[in-house]
Amino acid sequence: MREQTYTVQQRHYMEEALFEAEQAAVIGEVPIGSVIVHDGQIIGRGHNLREHGHDATLHAEIRAIEEACATLQSWRLNDCQLYVTIEPCLMCSGAIINARIPEVFYGARDPKAGAVDSLYATLTDSRLNHTVAVHEGLLAKDAGERMVAFFKAARRRQKAAKKARKAAQVSAPDKLLDSTKKS
Ligand SMILES: [Zn+2]
Repeated sequence: MREQTYTVQQRHYMEEALFEAEQAAVIGEVPIGSVIVHDGQIIGRGHNLREHGHDATLHAEIRAIEEACATLQSWRLNDCQLYVTIEPCLMCSGAIINARIPEVFYGARDPKAGAVDSLYATLTDSRLNHTVAVHEGLLAKDAGERMVAFFKAARRRQKAAKKARKAAQVSAPDKLLDSTKKS
């Protein structure tokens, strides 16, 4: 892990990204949030909306990039910093490179999908025409804890649903018989 010290301002932007993550969590989306800063102003923000939008591309960073591009009326975000609570995936790293964002701050690593440090090093790969200054670990504990709590609750819900299904089958043996006949 790269050792970093952060300014009050940088912490503030990551807190805003965490606020976005919270917005995702309350509607049952994986709690990841992102903001994009230009001249000290947040010009784009987003949280994961994959389930509600029925769209695999609706990651926090993609939504923040879209909003920032619309705000600046430009696909180039070359004077911007992107903050995101969890390490970007391959798709989002690709979007960051394509938007020419020069600096990224992320919170916790994603060992299963992270494409910045965990699985790949896309943002710092010198074979690409654009490389990014990466800062990891800013408010990582908060970001990570939100993810852990979210998946714990999701597992609990799954377990409860499975239990309820089982109970329904026991109380309706005829139906069970029918379904076994069909298969
Ligand atoms: Zn992503």
